[in-house]
Amino acid sequence: MTKKPLVAVTGASSGIGEAVARTFSDAGHPVLMMARRIDKMESMGLPDSICLEVDVRDRDAIKAAVADAEAVYGPVDMMFVNAGVARLADIGRQPPEEWDEMIDINTKGVMNTLHSVMNGMMERKTGTIFMMSSIAGRKVYPDHTVYCGTKYFVHAVSESIREYLSDYNVRVIVLSPGVVETEVLSGVLDEQTLAEYKENKVKMGGGIGPEHVSEIMLHSYQMPQNALIQEICITPTRQKF
Ligand code: NDP
Repeated sequence: MTKKPLVAVTGASSGIGEAVARTFSDAGHPVLMMARRIDKMESMGLPDSICLEVDVRDRDAIKAAVADAEAVYGPVDMMFVNAGVARLADIGRQPPEEWDEMIDINTKGVMNTLHSVMNGMMERKTGTIFMMSSIAGRKVYPDHTVYCGTKYFVHAVSESIREYLSDYNVRVIVLSPGVVETEVLSGVLDEQTLAEYKENKVKMGGGIGPEHVSEIMLHSYQMPQNALIQEICITPTRQKF
């Protein structure tokens, strides 16, 4: 049986990244899994997987991880640029260190990840890049100020590289989920913001599951290379804003 191409995921140790690693693995792909908590990735026990401890802020570490996995399984055909943190807070009381962290991980980390596969895909004239933005990359929330800024960044970069990479037959798909049940709220340290977020979540009947996101991603990936779903905006039906 011909092996399916290698796929790579940042933030594969929990939440949506974990679901995507599982869904693509179940579909027969070898998977490069990257995050800081290597034990969590290894405990998933996926076949044909390589788990590497990578902080997306470290450009050389991502590059090396991609090279290591490609030496075993061949070129990365799909990169999920997913790792991110959501330090949601009232901007008036938020410590600036939280801005630094979000900007470093959610914007510079995104560029580092993109850079690790982009040139190879351009040379091969094929590939798919999923860019993790958010509904907060389409509309602002007053207590998500810097998080929204980072996700608007992802939207802008995604649209720009989609146009740029179209000449190379490389697909760029931006994801804009609403509330998804993951560990993301563990990053919200501002108690009032967390309480208000949870209250809104209850009103909408809870978030969707990460597997709903990973399943639609697999479907988009499995479309012919000349068919591009440019954006996936998926939310709970009862999510108003
Ligand atoms: P989780 O907290 O469950 O997952 C976040 C993942 O990112 C973890 O695997 C974490 O791994 C990884 N990560 C964080 N910082 C780094 C870093 N510096 N280097 C490498 N990996 C890192 O949350 P989600 O699955 O929800 O989040 C995934 C993405 O989805 C994020 O970009 C988030 O903004 C976005 N999103 C989430 C929504 C939601 O409602 N859940 C809605 C819209 C978008 P580790 O700590 O092991 O490094």
